[in-house]
Amino acid sequence: MCIFCKIINNEIPCFKIYEDEFTIAFLDINQTTYGHTLVMPKKHVKNILECDDVTYTNTTKTVKLVAQHIINKLDAKGCNILSNCNEVAGQSVDHLHFHIIPRFSENDSFKITFTQNEFDLKDLASKIAINPTM
Ligand code: 5GP
Ligand code: ZN
Repeated sequence: MCIFCKIINNEIPCFKIYEDEFTIAFLDINQTTYGHTLVMPKKHVKNILECDDVTYTNTTKTVKLVAQHIINKLDAKGCNILSNCNEVAGQSVDHLHFHIIPRFSENDSFKITFTQNEFDLKDLASKIAINPTM
């Protein structure tokens, strides 16, 4: 059983923020910023790429609710919401979870950097454009 399933089953303690029939939210043990929270489905699925639509919808509803609540309660100015998919992207626990990282200023303790590359966008779009099926 994975570590988050053990938390969901009350075998490992956590600081719980929210729980309903399908989802749970608790504080990340490593606080990137003040209030850094994890939201996840109770059902064990690896990540978004392998998640059924109902579980995804239930989880993202909770993400929105918890993010708005944390921002209001902690007087944050915004938040980053992210979900790492697979080890290459930094996923270290193979149970779908969204990080809610409250942001208090642009210079607080969380950094995300988008580097710029000169890719051929026409060629790229032709490779990955999704054609409507109907
Ligand atoms: P990932 O790297 O998979 O995107 O995020 C996993 C997160 O889970 C990390 O930010 C890590 O701090 C957190 N985490 C790992 N083990 C535990 C735990 O036992 N309890 C809590 N509350 N958080 C954990
Ligand atoms: Zn699990």
